[in-house]
Amino acid sequence: MCVIACPKEILALDHSITNNKGYHPAHITDESKCIGCGSCTIMCPDCAIRVEVE
Ligand code: SF4
Repeated sequence: MCVIACPKEILALDHSITNNKGYHPAHITDESKCIGCGSCTIMCPDCAIRVEVE
């Protein structure tokens, strides 16, 4: 869900990993393009993403 929510399209599923819930976790492809909008945090069903703005 976070992958489609990201306005910068910098989140992708890591198909090389399957977690214990049976799905591929998301990872950030280019952190320098993140605008800190928090959409990924809101959309994550497992509250697994935390956005920190420096
Ligand atoms: S906080 Fe960054 S990674 Fe998350 S949805 Fe926004 S731009 Fe994408």
